[in-house]
Amino acid sequence: MKISIIGVGSVGSAVATSVKNTGLVHEIVLYDRDGVRARAAAEDLGHATAFGFDVKISAANNYRGIRGSDIVIISAGANQRPGQTRTDLLENNANVIRDIVPRVMENVDPKRVILILVTNPLDVMVMLAQKLSKLPPARVIGTGTMLDTARLRTILARGLSVSPQSIHSYVLGEHGDSSVIDWSSITVGGLSLEEFCHQARIQMNATIRENIEYHVRNAAYEIIRGRGATWDGIGSAVSDLLRCITNDEHRILTVSIVAGTGAHTCAMSLPRVIGANGVVMTLTPKMSPAESTALRRSVKIIQKNFSRV
Ligand code: NAD
Repeated sequence: MKISIIGVGSVGSAVATSVKNTGLVHEIVLYDRDGVRARAAAEDLGHATAFGFDVKISAANNYRGIRGSDIVIISAGANQRPGQTRTDLLENNANVIRDIVPRVMENVDPKRVILILVTNPLDVMVMLAQKLSKLPPARVIGTGTMLDTARLRTILARGLSVSPQSIHSYVLGEHGDSSVIDWSSITVGGLSLEEFCHQARIQMNATIRENIEYHVRNAAYEIIRGRGATWDGIGSAVSDLLRCITNDEHRILTVSIVAGTGAHTCAMSLPRVIGANGVVMTLTPKMSPAESTALRRSVKIIQKNFSRV
């Protein structure tokens, strides 16, 4: 398995590290418009292979270097500065995607390649990349709310004193400020959240839920304030998605792909089954009327932002 990473800043490097440590790929190619940065990253990561799996890591001077890639990960573009929202990056990063995707497509096999989008604002970038690449939507996958879902699971896990692995919960819609926490579908060890809290004598009232929602939605802002950017969480999210594809695992992840036609076209996150050929199936989650309304609002926001590019 050969993969390429376009954009080797904080996120691209973290993705490379995490993917390298899975042992699932034999070759990683790094490309960045800043060639010095890409070469330095390839050098540093290459040395790290002496301590783990024997992965060939190189920097490409141009897009011909990505030829033969099974998966191309796009993590190029501006990141949020403290106080900026993901939508503030819209115009700049739409130009980055317009620059990258046609060049990627000239150098990959359109019949089998899978694009993984990381650049923010994520859902709009997925729509743009799918349009430019003309690939089937199932093979243009944004990490979407995988990270938000991970944040929700870890916060819940701490409060409930169980492992995040035993919690099934999903954040839906935009990877952004309008994301929707689907409280109605949460299960813990097969029990509804309510039933689990009842049995464990744990309080989960409206104020606690609001507090959890606040921390899930604002986690990125807090991390950016503290360390300038976020990279470890997303690095692991991308390698988890890659593992799911490589092993044809059919795990259910909240990724973003384009769905719908005409005026209803939108990319957003829902629980989706992922296999070797990308998204295999999308689930319609159980939602309360308020959650459904919030999801419709989230879709409108993504569509409005897409109309701006
Ligand atoms: P960074 O500034 O550290 O790195 C960005 C890299 O992209 C730079 O090395 C730059 O040279 C390169 N680049 C810019 N335009 C390019 C082009 N046209 N062609 C090739 N390379 C180009 O930024 P970062 O912290 O690594 O963040 C990258 C992106 O990932 C941002 O948009 C950020 O918001 C996003 N992000 C997404 C998630 C998520 O959950 N989806 C999480 C964290 C960050």
